[in-house]
Amino acid sequence: MSTDSDRLDVLVFAAHPDDAELNVGGTIATLVAQGYRVGVADCTRGELGSRGTVEGRAAEAAEAARVLGLYARYNLGLPDGAIPDTPEARLAVIRIVRRTRPDIALVPPVACRHPDHEAASRLVTAALYQSGLVRIEAGDGLAPWRPHHVLHYMQTLDFEPTLVVDVTAAWEVRMQALRAYRSQFHDPTYSAADGEPETYISNPAFLESVEARARSYGHRIGVRYGEPFLYRHGPFGVTDLVGTFSTRREHR
Ligand SMILES: [Zn+2]
Repeated sequence: MSTDSDRLDVLVFAAHPDDAELNVGGTIATLVAQGYRVGVADCTRGELGSRGTVEGRAAEAAEAARVLGLYARYNLGLPDGAIPDTPEARLAVIRIVRRTRPDIALVPPVACRHPDHEAASRLVTAALYQSGLVRIEAGDGLAPWRPHHVLHYMQTLDFEPTLVVDVTAAWEVRMQALRAYRSQFHDPTYSAADGEPETYISNPAFLESVEARARSYGHRIGVRYGEPFLYRHGPFGVTDLVGTFSTRREHR
C-alpha cells in the first residue's frame, strides 16, 4: 500500500551513494527549498569504492540527506559493479516507484564513462515504464504508477541538455552535501587508510571541475550555477508559456 506520507514529488535514482549529490545536489536543494518532497533511491551501497567503507559511506549518505533535506532515501542493495537488469531488480525499483508515486523521476544518463551509471540507467528506465503496467504485480497491494516525466541528469560525459535548472540560491547547501562524503571527495582533514589511493573524484581538481561545469551551464541560461538535464521522450506539454520561460537573462 502507498500512503500520503510515502508520496514524493521528485524521486532521484542513482547507481552509487554520492551520485545524486554530485550530479543533482543543487536541483534537490532547490526543490526542497521550494517546498517539494524529494527522495533518493541508490541502487548499490558503493562497496567497490576505492576509499572508505560501506558503513562509512552509509553514514556519509545519511549526513548528505540531512543537509539536502531529503524526505526519504532508499537503497536497493544491488551489487556494485554488476547492477543487473533482471525481472527481480526491476521489481525492486517498481516497488519504490509505486510506493512513492513521484510526478518526476531523475535518472542517470544513457551514456557514461562509468559502466554502473549506464547499467543503472538501463534498469531504472525499463522499470519506470513497467511500473505503469497493470498486469505487473509487485506485491504489498501497490497500484501501478508511472512518473509523468523522466529527466536524465549529466554524469561524466557532456550532452546537449534540453533544460538547465538554476541552482544558484542552493549552491552552498549543495556543496555542503557533497563535502559530507569525506572519504570520496577531497577533504584535507580526511586521513586515508592504508592502501586507499587518490582517485579521479578525490583529487582536489575534481571539485573545481564540478563548480566549473555548473558555472558553464549556468552561464548559458544567464545565471551563476546550473545543472543540465536531458528530456529524452519529448516533447513535453506547456500550459503556461510565460511561466515556463520565467527566467530572465540580464544579457541577451
Ligand atoms: Zn557513481
